[in-house]
This record gives sequence, structure tokens and C-alpha cells, in this order.
Amino acid sequence: AKQAGRNGFRFFTSEMQASSARVMIVENALRHALERDQFQLYFQPQVRLSDSQLVGAEVLLRWEHPELGHVDPADFIPIAEDSGQILQIGEWVLRQAVRQCKAWIDKGLAPILIAVNLSAVQFRDPRFPELVMQVLREEQLPPQYLELELTEGVAMDNPLEAIIIINRLLAHGISMSIDDFGTGYSSLSYLRRFDINKLKIDQSFVCEIGASSENRAIINAILGVAKSLGLKTIAEGVESEEQMTFLREKGCDEVQGFFIGKPLPAEQFEENFERQVLS
Ligand code: C2E
Ligand code: CA
Ligand code: CA
Ligand code: CA
Repeated sequence: AKQAGRNGFRFFTSEMQASSARVMIVENALRHALERDQFQLYFQPQVRLSDSQLVGAEVLLRWEHPELGHVDPADFIPIAEDSGQILQIGEWVLRQAVRQCKAWIDKGLAPILIAVNLSAVQFRDPRFPELVMQVLREEQLPPQYLELELTEGVAMDNPLEAIIIINRLLAHGISMSIDDFGTGYSSLSYLRRFDINKLKIDQSFVCEIGASSENRAIINAILGVAKSLGLKTIAEGVESEEQMTFLREKGCDEVQGFFIGKPLPAEQFEENFERQVLS
């Protein structure tokens, strides 16, 4: 039973959303997604507030299945994590992202940081740090252009283990940010010991900037912590001028969100954003 949804069709009824039948359908479909070329990378601009320069792009995975239609990453990533498929998918994302970044540099465009989301399963895979280096080597991208986004939840789940893995990754010259910051339960003492580069303020705080003084206070506090620990800050989910002005006044370093630019396929991203930097 299909029902009409925002995008015309919804394959899954609400009862099916959480059902094991649905998980099996998605898991089976995922098995062929790579070989059938159903994945695509989208790039969302990250802009520095001090001079409005494009400094990076977050890589977001998109999946278009011939029958299921567009499936949200929030839906299929957890299923791919449970089945282990995320290792193969994540490697593909990493390689394509690195390759695209290198292609832009080779074209003579001003280099930007490419930020790739990291799943807990990839992060805990003992072969992962070597894989990252292998991909960078093979694609000939200097490590300083790659950033890995690790969610606060994963980082703080087992902080002592995370410190070791993060340090192994950072030793190779890439950078790392803590994603969805503010939604987990960070211990400041561990945060201090993570040698990461950046905190990414979760969009749930950003979207309420106008309406909620509590959220303004939380953002202020996060910016204060980041400053005292020498970490850069980026706010995600910035949707309005008002939010951007607040973040600029409070000293947030960078912004990302629909107000700056939606995630776009590589070619459109290049047309819309890369050129501005050079002009
Ligand atoms: P995330 O890493 O927190 O990514 C930010 C999400 O917010 C993205 O959703 C993005 O499209 C959306 N977004 C960006 N700007 C705005 C805005 O101004 N307003 C609002 N309301 N939303 C905005 P998306 O692309 O659906 O991805 C959802 C989640 O799926 C991501 O959350 C990330 O956890 C995961 N994900 C996406 N791609 C990958 C991937 O390649 N690997 C892994 N492991 N996870 C991924
Ligand atoms: Ca992210
Ligand atoms: Ca996030
Ligand atoms: Ca999120």
C-alpha cells in the first residue's frame, strides 16, 4: 500500500516505517546500490563568517532507488550500519569525495576542505586509519584537505578508545570535527583530551536561535568552551539572516545551512560556489 507523500510517492506506510519487513527491503536494496550506481554525493557549502569565503563542503550521501525512490540517509544509514554494509558504502563515499576535491584542485579552483561523515562502524574498524591514508595516496590528495566528522555521541560513547583512534587519524595530517555537538553528553575533560580541530554546533540549537533564549545561551556556552579549548566552531542548519548575524556577533567561525546553500551535486556546487571564490 503506497501513499502519496511530499515527493509524490511514499513506498513505506507509517506502520512499515519501523517494521522488520522494511529493514529487510532496504537492506536487500542496499546490496545492489553501489554496483547499480544508485548513490550520489551532494556537497553543501561551509562559509567563514569573518570574510564570507567558501572554506569547505560537507559531503552528504543521496540514494535514489528505482522502486523505493529517494531514501533518506537518516533512514538507510542506520540499516547499513547494522548490516555492516556501511563499511563498503563509507569507503565509496570517502573515495569519491577525495577524488572530487582533487579534481577541483586540478582544475585550478581555490582548494576547500572536504568534510566526510564517519559512521561509528567505520570509526571502530581497526583498518580504517590505514584505509584513509591509502585512499588519499591513491587519489593523490594532500591530507590537509580532508576532514572527518564524528558525532559527539560516538566520540563520547567510549572516550578513552576514541582518543586513541582520533589520534591515529590526526597523526596522518587530516582534520576532525565533532558533529551534532551539544546533543550528547560531553565531558569537558575528555573534550580537552580530544585533539580535534572543530566543534560543529547541532542544528537543533541553531534553528531555535530566534525563539529560544535558552538555545542562544547554549550556543554561547558552546562557543565559550570551544574558544577556551582552542577549537574552531561551525554552526549547521543556518536558515536565516537573523541566525547568521547572531552567530557572527557571538564569534562563531563558520556557518553551513540552507541560508548559505543547499547540498548540491558536484557540478552545480561548482557552478554556484567555487567560481565566487576566484572572482
Ligand atoms: P548530519 O551529518 O548532521 O548532516 C546534516 C543534515 O542536515 C543533512 O541531512 C543536511 O542536508 C541537513 N541540512 C543542511 N542544512 C540544513 C538547514 O539549513 N536546515 C535543515 N533543516 N537541514 C539542513 P541529510 O543529508 O538528510 O543527512 C542526514 C544524516 O545522515 C546526516 O546528518 C548524517 O548523520 C547522515 N549521513 C549523510 N551522509 C552520510 C554519509 O556519507 N556517511 C554517513 N556515515 N552518514 C551520512
Ligand atoms: Ca555531519
Ligand atoms: Ca550534524
Ligand atoms: Ca544531525
